[in-house]
Amino acid sequence: MSKEIPYKIYLEENEMPKQWYNVRADMKNKPAPILNPATMKPITLEELAPIFCGELAKQELDDRTPYFDIPQEIQDFYRMYRPSPLVRAYCLEKKLGTPAHIYYKFEGNNTSGSHKLNSAIAQAYYAKKQGLKGVTTETGAGQWGTALSMACSYFDLDCQVYMVKVSYEQKPFRREVMRTYGATVTPSPSMNTNIGRKINQEFPGTTGSLGCAISEAVEAATTQEGYRYVLGSVLSQVLLHQTVIGLETKTALDKYGIKADVIIGCAGGGSNLGGLISPFAGEVLRGEADYEMIAVEPASCPSLTRGIYAYDFCDTGKICPLAKMYTLGSSFIPSANHAGGLRYHGMSSIVSQLYEDGILTARSVEQTEVFKAAQMFARVEGILPAPESSHAIKVAIDEAMKCKETGEEKNIVFGLTGTGYFDMVAYQKFNDGDMADYVPTDEEIRKSLSMLPKVE
Ligand SMILES: *Cc1c(COP(=O)(O)O)cnc(C)c1O
Repeated sequence: MSKEIPYKIYLEENEMPKQWYNVRADMKNKPAPILNPATMKPITLEELAPIFCGELAKQELDDRTPYFDIPQEIQDFYRMYRPSPLVRAYCLEKKLGTPAHIYYKFEGNNTSGSHKLNSAIAQAYYAKKQGLKGVTTETGAGQWGTALSMACSYFDLDCQVYMVKVSYEQKPFRREVMRTYGATVTPSPSMNTNIGRKINQEFPGTTGSLGCAISEAVEAATTQEGYRYVLGSVLSQVLLHQTVIGLETKTALDKYGIKADVIIGCAGGGSNLGGLISPFAGEVLRGEADYEMIAVEPASCPSLTRGIYAYDFCDTGKICPLAKMYTLGSSFIPSANHAGGLRYHGMSSIVSQLYEDGILTARSVEQTEVFKAAQMFARVEGILPAPESSHAIKVAIDEAMKCKETGEEKNIVFGLTGTGYFDMVAYQKFNDGDMADYVPTDEEIRKSLSMLPKVE
């Protein structure tokens, strides 16, 4: 070992990325094009224009340009809370008695408490630049809505958030953070939109889903002058913005001559995972290096491990473009588990294609196991992790324990996407021993998959 590795590897400001990396440029098998739900043909820039900001639509459709300059205004905002530290988990290693070296990239050091601000600020910037009045969005657990409300208040944009009802009720404090930053927050399904009214009628008492909230937000954007819809995950543009995570991680590792062996991220819609692994996946795709990369998803919403790779709607209301992705079917409504940010029926088309091509593997983990890992992590590393992030912790611990058996000194890197201060109801359930593990039956999954759209 050349240099002593500190607890925290920080970068200098001038070592921060000035460009986002578009891994699609290095993929031989490109993600399949997104389709217009009206025509079932690849969607064009013009057709995306009523829904998305122009620059973001361009980023969405561009699978050739390897690097996009990060506009100076966004770089300036990033400097308020980035670079984020890459932490060597010395205390966790000691607790586990493992010869493995464990590192985590910590994205919870901003008020929104997660990595989502990396894309929120980019999306708000392009909306402002286009002269819009405001944006609409959905939020599941609340992290995205919080990040977007911060980003919108920075650029003085109106922000309308449709929040999945179960989270709206479970997390009143999240809601108040958003309102403090000036956002309007509506529980979804609501009675404000056609699709919301329809879903309320079809599924009385439903606690909602991300797919449903997306439909409401899109309807709200397209029916108000000067508004566009923005999304916190799944889309390729979001994954692109999140590559700041992976680029910083790579620079930090390189600085100390560390070669990652295993890279782990939790997967909801795939943006943090995709952003973390992109630069590494790029090396694999170009034949320059080899890494084991693992996506971790909840057993209650197992898109990669139990879904199929097919075109599907991104939303319950079937008004968004269709994407080819690993999906459980857009009518799948996952049980009300405590990792709200991972309750999405589909997966980023980039992550899906990388998984299909074997660049990436996936595992699903059950909720109580995840919280056991979260508790151990909190006690030794100090940080109170978000339930979503704890999925990655769980698998990082599993991998480190394998090293203990084999004596291998692997470098394990995982993404710690955020903090769990607004998830204390979940921690309370865990601490009281009241937490259940809900795993959908094959029959349930088959049923929602049987309703997939037919695409040639
Ligand atoms: C939203 C969220 C996730 C999952 O979203 P991805 O798009 O899959 O990254 C993970 N962790 C936290 C803390 C989140 O807020």
